[in-house]
Amino acid sequence: MTQNSRTVSCPRCAKPVRWGPESPFRPFCSERCKMIDLGAWASEEYRVAVKGKDEDPDARSAGSEHDAP
Ligand SMILES: [Zn+2]
Repeated sequence: MTQNSRTVSCPRCAKPVRWGPESPFRPFCSERCKMIDLGAWASEEYRVAVKGKDEDPDARSAGSEHDAP
């Protein structure tokens, strides 16, 4: 018995993907899933991690000492 229709799960959305010439983006189900998986960590997730370090507490405390008589 030879089964020629092997199926794998897309690593991105877990959809079943036919393992054959009709699935050029295997193991992904589509080009979109492939691009998302390859680019997600490099662009979006990375950008979020970098953000949030814009405040400078030193710039604020320097002005409060001017209040003394
Ligand atoms: Zn997919």
